Amino acid sequence: MVHELIKLPYAYNALEPIMSTETLQYHHGKHHAGYISKLNSLIPGTEYETKSLVEMIKHAEGAIFNNAAQVYNHDFFWTNLSPENTTPSLALDSIINAQFGSVEAFKKAFIEKGLALFGSGWVWLCIDEKTNLSIVSTSNADNPIRSGLVPLMVCDVWEHAYYIDYRNARADYLEGFWKLVNWKFVSFNYANHEKHRGDYFSNFCSDNTPYCDYVDSIDAMENAGS
Ligand code: MN
Repeated sequence: MVHELIKLPYAYNALEPIMSTETLQYHHGKHHAGYISKLNSLIPGTEYETKSLVEMIKHAEGAIFNNAAQVYNHDFFWTNLSPENTTPSLALDSIINAQFGSVEAFKKAFIEKGLALFGSGWVWLCIDEKTNLSIVSTSNADNPIRSGLVPLMVCDVWEHAYYIDYRNARADYLEGFWKLVNWKFVSFNYANHEKHRGDYFSNFCSDNTPYCDYVDSIDAMENAGS
């Protein structure tokens, strides 16, 4: 299977001024594209040649794991951003309030987790099979699927995500991130988890990414005329 760079669901200038066109040109067009081409060069002739990204995240090691996870993490990251002003579903809003006290308290804890992460990595909102939410940070390419959690939302805290626009000011980047969160996608992930539970990933399309499942769901809605 040849993995392909996802087309962003918005233009490179759509996230300005919080994320500049130049940042997206480099972040999507160079960094994300680089992980794809590296992955495609690594897997021919290995057991992972026909495997999904999720299978590689669960089982691969070394360079194949790093590049597959970075492809998945970036697919997830771009899809959980939007230039539109979105809000959490009632169900998601209510579980965030129940478990974190308020959406504001959740945002604060998420930002603190991002600031506390040493070096490069990711901050995630995750859910487990008992519907416990958690804020998790992972280093480098690592992904919480590897430890049995289901990701609902992510922020990329590699310097390449913010250095052009914010230099070393990670806190300012993490504050700005909230203006771009695609709550429709986060709510979709939560609803999908509640629907499928342990069978969560088996319902996804061939790449097993929430990205393509989400896009499929939007296409289905548009085809149904709603
Ligand atoms: Mn990145």
